[in-house]
Amino acid sequence: MKTIYFLSASMLVLLACISLSACAQTGSTAPATMPVSPEVSTDQSVVHKTDAEWKKQLSNEQYYVLREKGTEAPYSGKLLLNKEKGIYKCAACGNELFSDDMKFDSHCGWPSFDREIAGGKIKTVEDNSHGMQRTEIMCARCGGHLGHLFNDGPTETGMRYCVNSLSLEFVNQKDLPATAGKAVIPATDTITLGGGCFWCVEAVYEMLDGVKSVESGFSGGTTVKPSYADVCTGSTGHAEVVQLVYDPAVTSLDEILKVFFTVHDPTTLNRQGADVGTQYRSVIFYRNDAQRNTAKSIIDALNKDDVYGKPVVTQLDAFKAFYKAEDYHQDYYNQNKSEPYCRMVIQPKIEKFEKLFKDRLKKM
Ligand SMILES: [Zn+2]
Repeated sequence: MKTIYFLSASMLVLLACISLSACAQTGSTAPATMPVSPEVSTDQSVVHKTDAEWKKQLSNEQYYVLREKGTEAPYSGKLLLNKEKGIYKCAACGNELFSDDMKFDSHCGWPSFDREIAGGKIKTVEDNSHGMQRTEIMCARCGGHLGHLFNDGPTETGMRYCVNSLSLEFVNQKDLPATAGKAVIPATDTITLGGGCFWCVEAVYEMLDGVKSVESGFSGGTTVKPSYADVCTGSTGHAEVVQLVYDPAVTSLDEILKVFFTVHDPTTLNRQGADVGTQYRSVIFYRNDAQRNTAKSIIDALNKDDVYGKPVVTQLDAFKAFYKAEDYHQDYYNQNKSEPYCRMVIQPKIEKFEKLFKDRLKKM
């Protein structure tokens, strides 16, 4: 079973004082993938600099945190209490990471955010240093250390991005160029879908033009970092899901959901064919009102036109966390085409998809 660590705020401060080298905001273990807000886009070209170049650019304190994975003293950061409207960028490379509406007062001594700006700007790495099990967060563009990610956040996302002030540069809304902020069309968006066995759904979306990545995993349950075996018991509450990152300029949530309702049966409660259990439920985990409204209008239209001859039972749930499944579940169909399940269950779904969406397949 999983070990979950909980510490009170006062214990956290104490721990931080004892060991400032460990970003000491120990909460429950965080997932490998985290909620994002589909709002702002920036150039994602990777920044490579030598240590000497970073030393020249950054202050000593910034270098210690960003390049040597140090931690500033709790309650010492200049952005801890900042409530101004604006964007928080990586202090090393300017990558736009968070906006003011994502910040909340966590009382942990470091600036905290409940989600990140969309587009894969932040990468996560397992961090087992200092005798703790944590998820480190780094700027995906320059590799700068930001802090840690915990799944004990108090808002709807359940996430707490605990970030050093020294890793961030704040740009006030009034100083932002007109192109920055929420009006910008995101470069990518993310949706998490449960349509029965994730091997099937993943195989289909890997072929849809505009889908940049597909990961198989688990969502909607209570267990932190569940294994496939945990989820198969049906007791964790998780559904098998795929998480898609897509380019809204090439495909759309509307199209993605039309594929979703084509390749699985949304009328069978907690069941897809021979796969039975709540882990096989039909569910859409939305990240914002726009996603929820799009999904709801499609479901309403399917029911109104009685497309399936039965009501759609697909659940609409607010996204909280996604846990990537074990490596052998990723790209399962393509790695195991000769397996009977792939030939008999997945192959017919792919053929149906290829026929109906033949103009929308990725150019191989
Ligand atoms: Zn950076």
